[in-house]
Amino acid sequence: MSRAGDRVRPEIQALGAYHVPEVGDVVKLDAMENPYTWPDEDMRAEWAARLSGVGVNRYPDPRAADVVARLRGHTALPSDQALLLGNGSDELIQLVTLALARPGAKVLAPEPTFVMYRMIATFCGLEFIGVPLTPDFGLDMPALEAAIEAHDPAVVWLAWPNNPTGNAWPRADVHRVADLAGGLVVVDEAYQPFAQDSFIGELGERDNVVVLRTLSKLGLAGLRLGFVAGPPAWLEEIDKLRLPYNVNVLTQAGAAFALDHFDRLDRQAAEIRRERDALAATLAAAPGVTVYPSAANFLLLRVPSGTARQLFEDLLAEGILIKCLDGAHPALTDCLRVTVGTPTENALLAEALKRRLSAVV
Ligand SMILES: *Cc1c(COP(=O)(O)O)cnc(C)c1O
Repeated sequence: MSRAGDRVRPEIQALGAYHVPEVGDVVKLDAMENPYTWPDEDMRAEWAARLSGVGVNRYPDPRAADVVARLRGHTALPSDQALLLGNGSDELIQLVTLALARPGAKVLAPEPTFVMYRMIATFCGLEFIGVPLTPDFGLDMPALEAAIEAHDPAVVWLAWPNNPTGNAWPRADVHRVADLAGGLVVVDEAYQPFAQDSFIGELGERDNVVVLRTLSKLGLAGLRLGFVAGPPAWLEEIDKLRLPYNVNVLTQAGAAFALDHFDRLDRQAAEIRRERDALAATLAAAPGVTVYPSAANFLLLRVPSGTARQLFEDLLAEGILIKCLDGAHPALTDCLRVTVGTPTENALLAEALKRRLSAVV
């Protein structure tokens, strides 16, 4: 055995590497990115001017006060609630899990859901309990109650809306989970710009609920900025694990600029919501396709039995990258996930998918 084989934790050796496909020039509809960048030349020039004024010789403001103040304003965060920034919300998932990684502690989430919850639990040496969703991707409340009772998880993750299913569970179900859980409940609102609903307004009503957000899906995936908001008692502890300069100077300046031009991002999100609904209607008319309801910027599709992998490959051969979920979880057999792109990209996708489906159905 190699020395790495001797020394690296066995559960890490057993993991596959998180596979982010390296692709060339494709229509990229796999990663829930906003297809638009800054809309006009003036704005790009202003953006460049702001960034050129940043002193990269200095360490960043460790508190990122400019960004925090703007985020507090934009989210209308209750004043007694705390806010902590992360290098993407992925980093905050890691910090939350690390903070709670007492020996024997467990992590729970309904599944299928965002895979990082499970992966990071494994990184931290914690057992992950996945509770299957109902066949229509609702929360299975009796099963969740039983699992929370049996395992007393240190943290429950609820992606709201859920990735990859696209739906947002009834608020009453989320409240019920929070009331049952003895540990922390994180409502992950990565898709809030498309769902237009949030738990931020009620933070503080329950002392075990925090909300996780990101600027990634809104159009700033490349900046890497996420935040968690909620009761100071939790966030002060999680903050101790944060590396001092986790949000770099360019991200801080870029995010402050973006938040000063929030109306642009807002308009793009509105456009993406309209496109989502149009694309859903178009794809629902394709032969043999089920389109699941989505409050996010992607659509989950179920295609005829046994065709998902081939459809994925065929689309890629035509230069369209989507996500094949077949095999990722038993509930996702025959499923594909498509991110909503520009009207042109969506039309290309719809045309290619319909043409390929007519050949297989
Ligand atoms: C994409 C996604 C994230 C990660 O976002 P980053 O801020 O880019 O790390 C977190 N949660 C869910 C549910 C997501 O889909």
